Amino acid sequence: MSLFYDLHSHSSASDGRLSPTELVHYARQQGVDVLALTDHDITSGISEAKQAASHLALKVIAGVEISVIWRKQTLHILGLNIDPDNAALLAGLGKIRQARLWRAQEMGRRLAKAGFSDLYAAAHAIANGENVTRTHFARVLIEQGHAKDMKQVFKRFIVPGKPGYVAGEWAEMAQAVEWIKNAGGISVIAHPARYKLSATKMRMMIDEFMQAGGEGIEVISGSHSKNESQQIAALARHYNLLASRGSDFHDPAIPYINMQTLPVLPNDLTPVWAVWQ
Ligand code: AMP
Ligand code: MN
Ligand code: MN
Ligand code: MN
Repeated sequence: MSLFYDLHSHSSASDGRLSPTELVHYARQQGVDVLALTDHDITSGISEAKQAASHLALKVIAGVEISVIWRKQTLHILGLNIDPDNAALLAGLGKIRQARLWRAQEMGRRLAKAGFSDLYAAAHAIANGENVTRTHFARVLIEQGHAKDMKQVFKRFIVPGKPGYVAGEWAEMAQAVEWIKNAGGISVIAHPARYKLSATKMRMMIDEFMQAGGEGIEVISGSHSKNESQQIAALARHYNLLASRGSDFHDPAIPYINMQTLPVLPNDLTPVWAVWQ
């Protein structure tokens, strides 16, 4: 019997709705056998997730989703099967969270100028310490009645060109790959179809990622259409990259990202978990 892997998920340690314990129970109910907890720029939820999973028929893989800048574009690089206590990794993530804190304050100032006051304090209050993300601002804006759902709130307020958008000062891509490698993990390009790169830029990005030591790509993602998954699968074949599969789950109330209905990987690709077995 083949195991059900979901190698991309978020807890309340970053911008997920569920605590690490709740997330692990939820994943088990959804039929997941192996879950990677991959919070944005932080590993603090992993010990709780592992502890909760020790009572269940579910294995937790320690992971992280690192925010990086590549040619002025924000990309997300997953680190899978890392040592969540690796000192150099923790120091690097700490620096990113410092940048996050400044950026969240700046988002608050810009939104105040656009007529929405006190959003930084409100977003900070529902976030985990300094780890304030756009998701937290989005939740506050919806709660205050300024938009009806996540899609609308991002589009109106916090994507490039909108009043609350501030680019983050994230890590360099090669730097993030090095932290992951030193922490014993495998680097995977998260949801590659989301970046809207041209075919040429996508190839340049993958080339640089692999030169830095990156080994995997997320072929199946909760945020990929069927067509996008096929395009990314073709890239995985072309570059001989390990293929990953993850829901990018954040919130049980969001119906379009679902662990249970996540497609399987095309069977000619080598899954990233093959190297752990
Ligand atoms: P940040 O890292 O602070 O820029 O926040 C990025 C997070 O915002 C992502 O990880 C998603 O969880 C969320 N996000 C980005 N775009 C959207 C969108 N269009 N709809 C819903 N959530 C989004
Ligand atoms: Mn997120
Ligand atoms: Mn992401
Ligand atoms: Mn994610």
